Amino acid sequence: MKLHDTDIAIIGAGLAGSTAAAMLGRDGYKVTLVDPSPTHRPEFRCEKLDESQIELLVRTGLSEAVLSQAACDDAVWVVRYERLVDCRPSKRSGIMYADLVNAIRRQIPDCVKQVEVKANHIHTRAGHTEMALSDGSTLRARLAILATGLNPGLRSSLGVECETLSRRHTLCLGFDIAPAPGYKFAFPALTYFPDGPGHRCAYLTLFPVPHGMRANLFTYWEPDDPRLQQWRHEPGAALDALMPGLKTFAGDYVITGRVAVRPIDLVRMSQPARDGLVMVGDAYSTSCPAAGTGANKVLTDINLLASTYIPRWLEKDQILAEDVDAFYRDPVKVACENYCYSKALRLRETATSTSLKHSCWRVARFAAQATIGALRPHLVSSKPRGLLQSS
Ligand SMILES: Cc1cc2nc3c(=O)[nH]c(=O)nc-3n(C[C@H](O)[C@H](O)[C@H](O)COP(=O)(O)OP(=O)(O)OC[C@H]3O[C@@H](n4cnc5c(N)ncnc54)[C@H](O)[C@@H]3O)c2cc1C
Repeated sequence: MKLHDTDIAIIGAGLAGSTAAAMLGRDGYKVTLVDPSPTHRPEFRCEKLDESQIELLVRTGLSEAVLSQAACDDAVWVVRYERLVDCRPSKRSGIMYADLVNAIRRQIPDCVKQVEVKANHIHTRAGHTEMALSDGSTLRARLAILATGLNPGLRSSLGVECETLSRRHTLCLGFDIAPAPGYKFAFPALTYFPDGPGHRCAYLTLFPVPHGMRANLFTYWEPDDPRLQQWRHEPGAALDALMPGLKTFAGDYVITGRVAVRPIDLVRMSQPARDGLVMVGDAYSTSCPAAGTGANKVLTDINLLASTYIPRWLEKDQILAEDVDAFYRDPVKVACENYCYSKALRLRETATSTSLKHSCWRVARFAAQATIGALRPHLVSSKPRGLLQSS
């Protein structure tokens, strides 16, 4: 049986694992990255990075490689109650998830050994952690970083329990959208809030990505909601029915390609501390896409590990569960986790509650945003309405 030895084994090369491999390889550690695919395949996940996420990415040293592949939106029109209330400056970057991960994977230095297999089983001890790989070999490491996203396989081999914080918390739809032939969208990006809680929708966001305009619709529908049938077969008609006022701002549009639909549970691992193993990104806890905080969690985890915890741990003879637990209890990590979770709950409540308190909140939010928008005279006066004819 073949045995590989390494200091750090990273299992999973999504956003978390690839970022960790690029940073730790660059810092001179002996790293092995395990993922069955040589490149990340297209899938519907995080498709834009906001300003706070770009700041975290800058700290990884990988921002140039990513942002050169992305489309910046410069400004966002905000529509509430079918009124354009703001046109705020923005520096968000749109990039499809596979392109984001692959841009980071290209930054992984050659000294990082990459093995294209699955890890099937994991066994931890203080001195080292052993992983059984799908090609029959064994990988032994002083530290294993589990970055396997939602895949429950390895987690259950470790006996780590997954706590469900909010089942079917969000249902997200992702699709490409284009103006009718001969026209172009007048906005660089648009956030459109539905006009009441009856739709059970957080918002629709349209933002540029390198291949055109992308749309993410964040709802609180059940996976068997009858509206999804229409979304699968006639997505244009489904969007018209849900947001009839959208055409005032976007004109006629066409939805091109497939509509990706993803239901999301909010989960967190309970008591995950194990000798010689740390869980990061979605493998530790998931986030609500409507809150748009998943990348904050991933990048906070990896920045903390690379700058503080891993240098400290690898100086020791053995990495104990209590050392790993200090990372899970790190105030920066805890604050980030709490922020993501409370934002997810707050968004859902304010978008769906019919209580007087939340109705007042929605009106107050509208008034506040309209006031801020009105204080941006240079932007407001230049707001074009409707469509621009393409030249
Ligand atoms: C629909 C949707 C929309 C989202 N939108 C946003 C957004 O707008 N903003 C935001 O910030 N966040 C968003 N998120 C969250 C964000 O995408 C995730 O938090 C982030 O992608 C998690 O990255 P990860 O590396 O932890 O997991 P993943 O990207 O899932 O990576 C896991 C990797 O592990 C590998 N793997 C799994 N099992 C094994 C195994 N046994 N052996 C070896 N490799 C294995 C897989 O091949 C994969 O490469 C969204 C999520 C979803 C689902």
